[in-house]
Amino acid sequence: MATIIDGKKLAAEVRERAAADVADLAARGIACGLAVVLVGDDQGSATYVRAKLRDCEECGIPSQDYKLPASTSQEELMELVQRLNADAGIVGILVQMPLPRHLDEEAVVAAIDPKKDVDGFHPENLGRLVRGLPGLRPCTPAGIMEMLDAYGIDPAGKNAVIVGRSSIVGKPMSLMLLAQNATISVAHSHTDPRELARICQSADILVAACGIPKMIKGPWIKPGATVIDVGMDRDENGKLCGDVDFASAELVAGAITPVPGGVGPMTRAMLMSNVAFAAKLQNGLI
Ligand code: NAP
Repeated sequence: MATIIDGKKLAAEVRERAAADVADLAARGIACGLAVVLVGDDQGSATYVRAKLRDCEECGIPSQDYKLPASTSQEELMELVQRLNADAGIVGILVQMPLPRHLDEEAVVAAIDPKKDVDGFHPENLGRLVRGLPGLRPCTPAGIMEMLDAYGIDPAGKNAVIVGRSSIVGKPMSLMLLAQNATISVAHSHTDPRELARICQSADILVAACGIPKMIKGPWIKPGATVIDVGMDRDENGKLCGDVDFASAELVAGAITPVPGGVGPMTRAMLMSNVAFAAKLQNGLI
């Protein structure tokens, strides 16, 4: 049976470290304000935002909560971002995605000061990742790297397969594992479905981030492999599940993240860590 990677426990440790950093910065007169911007009334997004604001409270991060109507124009949103960019008390800006369809997400992300881009989505920060320079990293893959490290799983020399190539998970994940000297394969919707099982079987580290409930089954997994399930899907009964069929996978894997309780809590915790990092960056402490 696989070791279950406890994302909840690790996330609590990451939040504790972030809180200690924030307290230390406050003692030096540096405020670590986070602005959270929610446009529209998508219930899922509102739930995520509430959770992030709770995390801020726990970590001593002063938060500013901006709830804008779905009718907000591009100009109004860009103006708010510019105002927050110029606000010295705000070290991090998070615009909750997805935005209503009439708004240009790329333009909004690009307008955020890269040093305040605590989601790590800005082209400059992704460019820094490509070039191997320090910077704000996207929370989900950064949290996965923390989990691997905490469980003593060294990617160097290992075969890593990432299923999914989004800009927020799959692509940055592959770059981070590459930076740690893993050999990388990235599968996506055009990967030959007859080949996918074989590709997954080559993985010492398998990261599932395709958004298809329970697509990856036990027989697709190399015995002893580390399986990281990013998926947040609903099964046929509407129950939360991952992209990996946990019941069959845990019999084969060496270590595996559960859903819930794996990658999700770590993603949230890494946001807190990124706020502290952004504050240090803006104050010349990194
Ligand atoms: P996304 O933007 O929809 O990307 C999905 C990726 O999977 C795409 O690259 C797509 O390929 C690929 N894909 C689709 N069908 C495939 C197939 N049959 N075989 C192989 N690859 C396939 O999703 P995302 O934002 O990266 O999120 C992925 C999953 O993680 C979702 O379930 C999401 O809810 C979850 N998520 C969880 C967290 C967390 O904190 N736990 C954070 C972010 C996302 P193409 O590029 O060719 O379309």
